[in-house]
Amino acid sequence: MTRKKYTLLPAEIISDDEFSTFRIQFSTDIIRWYDENKRELPWRETTDPYTIWISEIILQQTRVNQGYDYFLRFIERFPDVQTLAEAHEDEVMKYWQGLGYYSRARNLHAAAKSMNGIFPDTYERVIALKGVGEYTAAAICSMSYGMPYPVVDGNVFRVISRYMGIETPIDSGRGKKEITEWASRLIDRKRPALYNQAIMDFGALLCTPKSPGCAECPLVDRCIAFADGLVSKLPVKKNKTKVTNRYFNYIYVHAGEYTYIRKRVGDDIWKNLFELPLIETLQPVTEEELIALPEFRNFIAEGELPLIRLSLRQVKHVLSHRVIYADFYEVTLPETTRSFTAYKRIKKSELDQYAISRLVQIFLEKNG
Ligand code: SF4
Repeated sequence: MTRKKYTLLPAEIISDDEFSTFRIQFSTDIIRWYDENKRELPWRETTDPYTIWISEIILQQTRVNQGYDYFLRFIERFPDVQTLAEAHEDEVMKYWQGLGYYSRARNLHAAAKSMNGIFPDTYERVIALKGVGEYTAAAICSMSYGMPYPVVDGNVFRVISRYMGIETPIDSGRGKKEITEWASRLIDRKRPALYNQAIMDFGALLCTPKSPGCAECPLVDRCIAFADGLVSKLPVKKNKTKVTNRYFNYIYVHAGEYTYIRKRVGDDIWKNLFELPLIETLQPVTEEELIALPEFRNFIAEGELPLIRLSLRQVKHVLSHRVIYADFYEVTLPETTRSFTAYKRIKKSELDQYAISRLVQIFLEKNG
């Protein structure tokens, strides 16, 4: 039998006592499931806000498996706020290399510098940190200080949307508000840290986007999406992310034992990472077309004749909103070359000391 959907105005359909029973049942089931199925993760062994903050920032847009080793290395090198604040940004970026979304590392570093060695202990001051939004502030405050702020990430959106049968698109303002309000009402106020970890793992491991484990789910008897045959349709999203293509032409210079790199600046991907000389084009170009471009000619000093070889073509690199197609050229010049003056001249053997995008790193590992 289909259960009546609750609304955000429980007084009209449900008493406080009834809602309290409903909430306790929900959190008890989720926490019991978590006790039996939770992932053992190092940041769950602590209530230290710094450690939780680092883990939460690493896990934004990064899968746990991928972020695990980064977290251990990062915490080993930067064990506390003070150490992180005193580090050079280039070194922080180097420890982040390969994780992507590099603004996270820049924000971590800037926030650490703003703390004067002491991690803030109120929600208002935590959420004021650079790079910390509602989700991260709720995770830190609930898990470190036991405050009843609900975490609302993609997993929580999915669980609540299905369990409550909410069909409002979750990428609309109304949908976000609706689910966030439900999250605030459903949180276990006595055990917020446990509850928050439980609902996130529940969404990540059982109530998954594709093929959720409804047959083993402790909520199945009360789940509206299950009862109404809506599991595969919820949560609803109205806007699919638009993906754009970009075309990068990288140049790996051989000038004896030297090569050239530059730090990326501007409001774009991979800001503050280093990279090889780059020409971005609006569409794929041939070797002849690339050499004819003014940007390429500007690289080369007058009178010098580089030897140019296309090394790798159309390497596809997928980011969240972009697909990059990269061609890699190798350009050989004399060791005393006057070309590439806008770039930093370093020994090729020193390349691994610089934080470089994963795309270029993969090329260098094969061809460096
Ligand atoms: S019954 Fe299925 S859809 Fe509903 S909460 Fe459980 S796993 Fe998710």
